[in-house]
Amino acid sequence: MGHVYDDQNIFAKILRGEIPNATVLETEHALAFRDIHPQAPTHVLVIPKGPYVCFDHFAQEASDAEIVDYVRAVGEVCRMEGVAEDGWRLIANAGMNGVQEVPHLHVHVLAGRNLGRMLS
Ligand code: IMP
Repeated sequence: MGHVYDDQNIFAKILRGEIPNATVLETEHALAFRDIHPQAPTHVLVIPKGPYVCFDHFAQEASDAEIVDYVRAVGEVCRMEGVAEDGWRLIANAGMNGVQEVPHLHVHVLAGRNLGRMLS
C-alpha cells in the first residue's frame, strides 16, 4: 500500500513552526513535545522530522540515520522524564483501525501512573 503524506496535518505545522508546541527534546531527525490532552502525568509525543505517515511508512522509506536518531530520541525522552525506573508505555496508532488522528508518525510515551493492562 502506498502512503501519501498530507503536509497540512497538525504535526507538519508544528514542524514548520506554524503552531506552538511544548518541546521536550529536539534532535537532528526527531522532535518530542507534550501532548495537549495528556492521558498520564508524562505524555510526550515523539515524531520524526521527515514526512512519514505511520510506522510502516517510516520503516520502509526513512534512512538508517533517521531511524537510529528517532529510536534514540524515544529512549532519551524516557530518561529525561525520569520514568525509566518506574516504567512506561509506548503506543503508535496507525490508520483507521488503529484510530490514528494525526497522519504523521508519532509514538506516545506514557508514564507517571499505573497504566493498567492493555491486552488481556
Ligand atoms: P493519535 O490518535 O495517535 O493520532 O493521537 C494524536 C494525539 O495528538 C492526541 O493524543 C492529541 O491530544 C495530540 N495532539 C493533537 N494536536 C496536538 C497539538 O497541537 N499539540 C500536541 N498534541 C496534539
